[in-house]
Amino acid sequence: MIIVMKPNAADESIHSIIQYIEGNGLQAHLSKGTEVTIIGIVGDKSKLAAENIMSFKDVHKIVPVTESYKLSNKQFHPEPTTVKVGNTTIGPGTLTIMAGPCAVETREQLLSIAHAAKQGGANILRGGAYKPRTSPYAFQGLEEEGLAFMKIAQEETGLATICEVVSHEAINAAVKYVDMIQIGARNMQNFYLLKEAGRSGLPVLLKRGLCATIDEWLNAAEYIIAEGNPNVVLCERGIRTYETATRNTLDLSAVPVLKEKTHLPIIVDPSHSTGSYRYVPSMAKAAVACDADGLMIEIHNDPANALSDGPQSLTFKKFYKLCEELHPFAQLVGRKF
Ligand code: PEP
Ligand code: MN
Repeated sequence: MIIVMKPNAADESIHSIIQYIEGNGLQAHLSKGTEVTIIGIVGDKSKLAAENIMSFKDVHKIVPVTESYKLSNKQFHPEPTTVKVGNTTIGPGTLTIMAGPCAVETREQLLSIAHAAKQGGANILRGGAYKPRTSPYAFQGLEEEGLAFMKIAQEETGLATICEVVSHEAINAAVKYVDMIQIGARNMQNFYLLKEAGRSGLPVLLKRGLCATIDEWLNAAEYIIAEGNPNVVLCERGIRTYETATRNTLDLSAVPVLKEKTHLPIIVDPSHSTGSYRYVPSMAKAAVACDADGLMIEIHNDPANALSDGPQSLTFKKFYKLCEELHPFAQLVGRKF
């Protein structure tokens, strides 16, 4: 449940309610917005009597929260969250562009792509060092060596960096080299990995599972936040449907639905959702138009010879063109880019 305080509620009133909640063995989460102050309660509410809470000074009303996710719930935190990643932020008023190769292949490959990402206007460099591939015989990633190249690229370009993690070992390595970690679609419900990501101290990009509902996705985000890490960004990357013309089906309606249900930023990945560079520009523009907080786009210096996801990777030239075309869309929705 949440306790909505009266406008201009006194700090002492807020403090005494929090003490009462914590004194009963529950957690209190304070959200102080410009309009309204809310105290969210997590735990066994049967320990609290509503009439006791209503008797506290400056309480306006009590609202039950029926969803099982609380900390990621917009009712708990009505203002949109801004997540800091290295020297940049993801959230309202800005359009984040994460660009880079599917997989880090060599130092030279990554550096050339990093410079192109920056030139196009990206603020975060993506690059996979641990690749969860469908086939065990496909390129599995350079692992820690790839992370070290990401660090070099970050130092050379000033771009913030993100890398997918697939295990405890990968998280321990990633914290030494990158600014943000990614939990991929295949691990969205790997709850132990989510908890570890929550304890990593780094912001987390949580991709939607291939067959996950929005509620399951928000519960996965809750696992991370419940470990004390509020810096979670969601990424819609397409879901499995009966349609085979595209690699997955991009669920753009997830963006407005999530804006209603959660305060977390949401970015869209037109590359993994469509599987073809030909559809990436249209879907990227549509994502910005429906008010996504950013995009994740795969780019490559030589898509035809990429070790992973070449068919969906944009050449540098196509990436620059897309970034140019995104400007009016960003302007329309009031986002700086
Ligand atoms: C990726 O971003 O490299 C990736 C593997 O994406 P997903 O988990 O969405 O398939
Ligand atoms: Mn990929």
